[in-house]
Amino acid sequence: MNRDRLADRVASLRPSINLTAAAAPPAAGRPNPLLFVEGEPADFDTPEFVKAAAIQALRDGWTKYGPTGGLPELKDCIRQKLSQENGLVYGADEVLVTVGAKQAIFNALMALCNPGDEVLIPAPYWTSYPEQVRLVGATPRILLTQRPGWRLTPDILADVLSPKSRVLILNNPSNPTGVVYQREELVGFAAVAARADLWVIADEIYEKYVYDGRAFTAFASLGPEMQQRTVTVNGVSKAFAMTGWRLGYAAGPASLIRAMTLVQGHSTSCANVMTQRATMAALRGGQESVQTMVAAFQQRRDLMVNGLNRIGGIHCPRPEGALYVFPDVSRLLEGGSVGAPLRTSVELARYLLEEAGVAVVPGEAFGAERAMRMVIAVPPEQIEEALVRMESCLQRRIAR
Ligand code: PLP
Repeated sequence: MNRDRLADRVASLRPSINLTAAAAPPAAGRPNPLLFVEGEPADFDTPEFVKAAAIQALRDGWTKYGPTGGLPELKDCIRQKLSQENGLVYGADEVLVTVGAKQAIFNALMALCNPGDEVLIPAPYWTSYPEQVRLVGATPRILLTQRPGWRLTPDILADVLSPKSRVLILNNPSNPTGVVYQREELVGFAAVAARADLWVIADEIYEKYVYDGRAFTAFASLGPEMQQRTVTVNGVSKAFAMTGWRLGYAAGPASLIRAMTLVQGHSTSCANVMTQRATMAALRGGQESVQTMVAAFQQRRDLMVNGLNRIGGIHCPRPEGALYVFPDVSRLLEGGSVGAPLRTSVELARYLLEEAGVAVVPGEAFGAERAMRMVIAVPPEQIEEALVRMESCLQRRIAR
């Protein structure tokens, strides 16, 4: 029947595994699962002054449609942020306000890619990249990096180039691996991008989450030529604990931003206007709240890395940034275990959920088998409890 037919573009679309794992009900007689799934600060709320700005915005009547590309006064705040914090100068027509960074990436892909174009995605990758690329009719080209470091190199990038290569998506700091690229590494990617005439979507949503005193370098800041071929993507979800507000932005050359704005005009019209007013307050309000979170998450990262490395069969590198640990679980999936074999990280995640009451995301969701992702932005008591549960559950399996 014709009514049963759905568009081809959704046939191969995979659901977000993150959300699937979080929604799983606890097994009968088991405690509620401890969740290490959602990429957001679990126990830090949006700062009060940002909430107050939203309430004031409603009182002041910011309840109507706004300009498609964003409120000019918010765009000014974003331009100021990019200039002061990243050394990037953009004009008013080079910034677009979107419904989260996710929509900024989608609009960019819509505006840049024709069917047949290849979008280069280093793996492990954020789950939505390949799916968004498929949705716009382009082809994801996955770049395999090596465990345990999972670093992209200019050679890996150069090796996959073809005449169809169109866009590189570079997530720095990286979800799920926690890699933070140093300036020299970015310069190496930039040279390949320039040689191959690639666009770069620089997803810098985790910019603030760099640990151990590392520096963050915005890709577009490598020079005017690079800025001309880069779409800088960022937002307030992670930095201001505002994931539910849905506010992101893109900055890039005016012709591309114009095209992305056209796409937005026929999809979401504009980002939520009250949220835009609140975001102005967030961006003007300083870095205190995010600095508190960064300090807390660095400690939680260490708690988690040290604890996981004490569990036989898990090898957990120390992430340099972002909100996740991404341990190698190969040994848990190999022979030598007692009980039913766990063959994949999906089976391991299911086992941990059912037997330990700990919800993690299997590596498969990020294009990396034999790994799993856990969020570090959860309260330390919860991390400690999870480590105890996982250890007692997993040590029974390992033949030492
Ligand atoms: N990019 C990466 C790498 C992410 O991990 C996420 C969210 O988890 C996003 C973009 C989306 O951010 P937003 O909430 O601003 O849409």
